[in-house]
Amino acid sequence: MKPSHIEHIGIAVLNLEEAIKYYEKVLGLECYAIEEVKDQKVKTAFFKVGDTKIELLESTDPEGPIGKFIEKKGPGIHHLAFAMADVAQALTEAESNGVQLIDKQPRKGAEGLSIGFLHPKFTHGVLTEFCGE
Ligand code: ZN
Repeated sequence: MKPSHIEHIGIAVLNLEEAIKYYEKVLGLECYAIEEVKDQKVKTAFFKVGDTKIELLESTDPEGPIGKFIEKKGPGIHHLAFAMADVAQALTEAESNGVQLIDKQPRKGAEGLSIGFLHPKFTHGVLTEFCGE
């Protein structure tokens, strides 16, 4: 199975409000949704750029995944999400190709989408997400 497009790029930010201003004022994009994902201890903001979205991620807890990422690497690009018609199937295929999965089964992410992550050690350093309906 191959991705149809890049669904979104996840970007870890220190301050969601400040980052939204940058994307709106400098790039002229419009924030169309702000959503807290309690599971992931993040607040997210979304912008559309063609078929691809920008997903800004602000940590709500220093112990959460984004909090830890920023502490280690600072703010910046956090993950790349590929649109997959069938996330469960795409995860199974990646695993059968020797990629370690963070999520063995799809789970619910922002916007009610089905998501699953691959381990960056097996994807040349890029935290990779599969994302679908
Ligand atoms: Zn994502």
